[in-house]
Amino acid sequence: MFKISYKTYTLNLKHVFRISRGSRSSTPILLTAIEFDGETGYGEASMPPLYGESQESAIDFISKVDLSGFNNPADIDEMMQYVDGIEVGNTATKAAIDIALHDLAGKLAEKPCYQLLGLPGVEHIATSKTIGLDKPGIIRSRTKDASEYQFLKIKMGSTTDLEVMEAVRSVTNVPLYVDANQGWNDRTQALENIHWLKEEGVVFVEQPMPVAELEDMAWLKDNSPLPIVGDESIQRLVDVEHAENFFHGINIKLVKSTGLNEGLKMAQLAKKKGLKVMLGCMSETSCLISAAFHLASLADWIDLDGNIDVTNNPYHGIETIAGKLINNNIAGIGLIDPESAWSKLS
Ligand code: MG
Repeated sequence: MFKISYKTYTLNLKHVFRISRGSRSSTPILLTAIEFDGETGYGEASMPPLYGESQESAIDFISKVDLSGFNNPADIDEMMQYVDGIEVGNTATKAAIDIALHDLAGKLAEKPCYQLLGLPGVEHIATSKTIGLDKPGIIRSRTKDASEYQFLKIKMGSTTDLEVMEAVRSVTNVPLYVDANQGWNDRTQALENIHWLKEEGVVFVEQPMPVAELEDMAWLKDNSPLPIVGDESIQRLVDVEHAENFFHGINIKLVKSTGLNEGLKMAQLAKKKGLKVMLGCMSETSCLISAAFHLASLADWIDLDGNIDVTNNPYHGIETIAGKLINNNIAGIGLIDPESAWSKLS
C-alpha cells in the first residue's frame, strides 16, 4: 500500500527576487513523502504565487489522490496518468507526487534516478546563477558574489535593460543567459535588443515576448541572431509538439512538466525535433534540484540554482560546488538522509 504524507513549508530567500512581472522574498512549498514496503520517497512542489498554485490548492489536490489501485512502485507512468487525470492544472503538486514516486522506485531498485530513466550519468555539470532585477549597485555586488559560476543568467524585460547589462559587464566577462520573462512587447525592438545582446556575449534569450504573441514569436525566431528559448510558453509535453515554430529551445522545469516522467518525454521530443534543452527551476529545496539533475545528460543548458539563495533549505542532496552540480550516485533522486530532515519539519 502506498501512503502519501505532506508538510507545508515556506522558503526564505536571501534577497528579494525581482523579474519583469513581480518580486518575492519567500516561496510557499509543499513537501511530500510516499511510503511503500518500508521505503520512503520524497518530493516537493514549489509554488510562487504568480503561477496559480498555493499550499491550500496543493493540499486539496493531494487529498483526492488515491493510489490504492496500484501495487507496483515501478509503474510510475501509469500512476502519473491517473494523477494527471484527477483534475487539470496543479502541475507543481503533481510533480511533488511524481518526484516522491521516482525517489521511492529508485530506492527500492537501489538505483539513482537517471539509471531508472534509462539515461547515462553525468558526474558534474556547470549551472548558471541567476541575478534578479535590481539597482545597478546591487547587481554589481551580486555578480561579484557569483564569481565561481561559469555562466550567469540575468533578468531583463524592464526599462533598465541597458543599466543591468552595464552593471554585470563592469564585473565579469562570463557568457550570459538573458531571461526577458515576456517583457518585450514590440518585435522590432525585441530583435534590436537581441542583436545588442549578441555583441554583449549573450548565449541565448529566454521568453522575449508575451505568451499570447505567437505570430511575433515565430517572426522573432526566424530573424534572431541568438537562440530563443521558450519558458512561459512551454509548460508541458503538448506544448513541445509545435515548439520548433516559435523557439530554438525549451526550458523544462519539473514544476511545469508535472515531474520527471513527463519532463523526460519533453526532453526526448525536443531532442528529436532538434531543439535545445534547458533545465530550469523555481526557488526550491535540494529536493526538486536533485530530481531535475537526473535529466542533465539531455540538457544543453543548466539553470538549477533555485536552492542556492534559500536560507532555510531543509534538505541536502545533489550539491553545488564551485558552480557545478556534483552527482552523488545515491539511490533515488539523491537526497542525503532526508528522514532526519523530514522528521524536523513541523
Ligand atoms: Mg524563465
